[in-house]
Formats: sequence, C-alpha cells, structure tokens
Amino acid sequence: MLCPLCKGNMEKSVANLPYRLSERNLVVLVNVPALVCEQCGDEYIEIDVVRNVEKVLERVRGDGISMGFVEYALAA
Ligand SMILES: [Zn+2]
Repeated sequence: MLCPLCKGNMEKSVANLPYRLSERNLVVLVNVPALVCEQCGDEYIEIDVVRNVEKVLERVRGDGISMGFVEYALAA
C-alpha cells in the first residue's frame, strides 16, 4: 500500500505506541506490527491490530498498571 501522506512505499515494520490511559497512566505498547512509510516515516496500523491493541489496553487497565512498557506480542 502507499502512504496516505506522501504516496511513498509502506514497509512492514513495528512501531512503539504510547497510550495515555488517564492523567497519571501512560503505557507504551512496543513492537506493534505496523506499516511504516520509507519516505516520511508515517505509521499505519491495520484494523485487526488496532482491535488487538484495544483488548491489550483493556487488560492493562484491569491490571492497574500505571506506567510501563507492554510487549504487544506477549499481551495480544
Ligand atoms: Zn509517507
């Protein structure tokens, strides 16, 4: 697929995504599968992955983790 911003090539890669769950809660999902533009570096996350990310975030909330890194592959 082509980058929506610059029409560059999107390469399969991984991204680290920070999520602020609340004022004091910040988690970073690491190694999330993503398409990254080789020209401008824009990241595109596929919808299936987004759904998984939401599940992971729900679990993180339930665990009461306030801050930290969560490995996507382990949590999904
Ligand atoms: Zn681009």
